[in-house]
Amino acid sequence: MHPSRWGDPARAQALPEATRGLVELVFGISERPAVVDPPLAPCAIDAAVLAELERALGAEQVCTDDDTRRLRTRGKSTPDLLRARAGDLTDAPDVVVRPGSHDEVAAVLAIAVEHRLAVVPFGGGTAVTGGLVAQREGFAGVVSLDLVRMKRLVSVDHVSMTAVLEPGLRGPEAEALLAAEGMTIGHYPQSWEYASIGGFAATRSSGQSSAGYGRFDALVVGLTVATPRGRIDLGTAPANAAGPDLRQLFLGSEGTFGVLTSVTVRVRRLPEVKVYEGWHWPSFAEGAAALRTLAQSGLLPTVLRLSDETETAINLADPAAIGGEGAAGCLMLAGYEGDPAAVEAKRAAVTALLTGLGGTCTGTAAGEKWSHGRFDAPYLRDSLLDVGVLVETLETATFWSNVDRLYTDVKAALTGSLGDPAIVLCHISHVYETGCSLYFTVATREADDPLAQWQRAKAAASDAMLAAGATITHHHAVGTDHKPWFAREIGPVGVSVLRAVKADLDPTGILNPGVLVP
Ligand SMILES: Cc1cc2nc3c(=O)[nH]c(=O)nc-3n(C[C@H](O)[C@H](O)[C@H](O)COP(=O)(O)OP(=O)(O)OC[C@H]3O[C@@H](n4cnc5c(N)ncnc54)[C@H](O)[C@@H]3O)c2cc1C
Repeated sequence: MHPSRWGDPARAQALPEATRGLVELVFGISERPAVVDPPLAPCAIDAAVLAELERALGAEQVCTDDDTRRLRTRGKSTPDLLRARAGDLTDAPDVVVRPGSHDEVAAVLAIAVEHRLAVVPFGGGTAVTGGLVAQREGFAGVVSLDLVRMKRLVSVDHVSMTAVLEPGLRGPEAEALLAAEGMTIGHYPQSWEYASIGGFAATRSSGQSSAGYGRFDALVVGLTVATPRGRIDLGTAPANAAGPDLRQLFLGSEGTFGVLTSVTVRVRRLPEVKVYEGWHWPSFAEGAAALRTLAQSGLLPTVLRLSDETETAINLADPAAIGGEGAAGCLMLAGYEGDPAAVEAKRAAVTALLTGLGGTCTGTAAGEKWSHGRFDAPYLRDSLLDVGVLVETLETATFWSNVDRLYTDVKAALTGSLGDPAIVLCHISHVYETGCSLYFTVATREADDPLAQWQRAKAAASDAMLAAGATITHHHAVGTDHKPWFAREIGPVGVSVLRAVKADLDPTGILNPGVLVP
């Protein structure tokens, strides 16, 4: 993907007429000039070291050309896109290497240790919190370790319902290989079309079907990791009491403790039926209470999300309803996947419970619309940035008893710091028995310095999350952007534990320096 945009250029689209009208009304339209790619700084790594990498991987797997390096620059947060749009590609790696096996990854790490090269593992490149921006200072160069060649379905255990996957498989590639075996992982984050198996594990990602299939870290049963200290294989049983679970050290480690070279996941049978329905609630609070009741009754559908009043109004593309809190009520989506009998039984039970709580089922139209457009939002973000509208998302999570406060405080922090005109949307994106995550989307008119404009709002929202006792991230991970708040969240002892692990596994600090570990 080009560093200034999302996805496949062929799917890029101008703003739909209705949306353009709405944008003009609320923010005004200010067409941005086309992005011109600047030449990159020359590769800073010594020719002799590059030759060593070539001997380890083959010359064609060691790329220093501008085009390849450009495509491995940063991730896909709005700040990442804004920097690239402004012609700033200073974080481009010096070289992109493409190992084809665990041993080749290990060989790259050994060369990096010897010559003090920073190594950035690169999966799908969809990181949104700065996890692909390694610090350069103190290193002889930056290596993007691209896992794109490690794309095998290594094995499938049809009896235990597990599969061993290489880390470079993108979401659709992994699902296609598993579908041929009659199986699915069921992990569908909005970035699914581009994000990778290794990335899902390294960031503890959570997909849109998490209510039914579980978040990605809950699906991982085993890992193989290449560290500068050597190889570690984890996950010898479905569960054990053999001390602390070391898999948890690597899940969410964002390439700072090692490179995940294989991931064993729990798989399910391919669903025969998928039904996505809309529900109407008079208010966000009533909808949220219904989600809680569902979760605590053990009746979670596969997909479950609830938009607040503003997000509902925007989704219904009803400009008149925007800002008119309560005017349109709130839209909930409940989706069911599985075999026909199980889907029908769950659907009947959920329908009875939600109807009893005051919800109204609106049929499958809203669910179908969501299902067909579920991976399109990032393209819309590009179209909005093209006309001078700043759009970004952030997320957090808390316990049920604290949801109201968190929602109110983060919304107020965003509204207060972005100024007029700003639209703040929210939905409950993931649900648990004990709490849920809140996912905010903001849109505002770009200021002269949109990066600083967003950083102010993001800091205010992050402060509000911690002040409300919530987490800095439910599924976007820490990267570089969340580090100061992450350090506050885990406290000095937590920071010291992470530093000790880092010092042990990566004593020369080559792995993703500056990311995650405060
Ligand atoms: C439009 C959009 C929508 C998104 N929607 C969601 C969503 O619904 N849910 C969600 O959870 N996230 C979402 N994200 C965030 C992002 O897609 C996830 O964090 C994803 O898991 C990253 O996977 P990736 O393969 O792209 O990883 P990358 O971006 O390539 O890497 C992410 C981090 O993991 C490290 N890493 C990657 N591969 C490995 C490996 N094999 N071993 C060790 N470290 C590695 C990298 O160095 C980096 O620090 C979204 C992002 C965007 C841009």
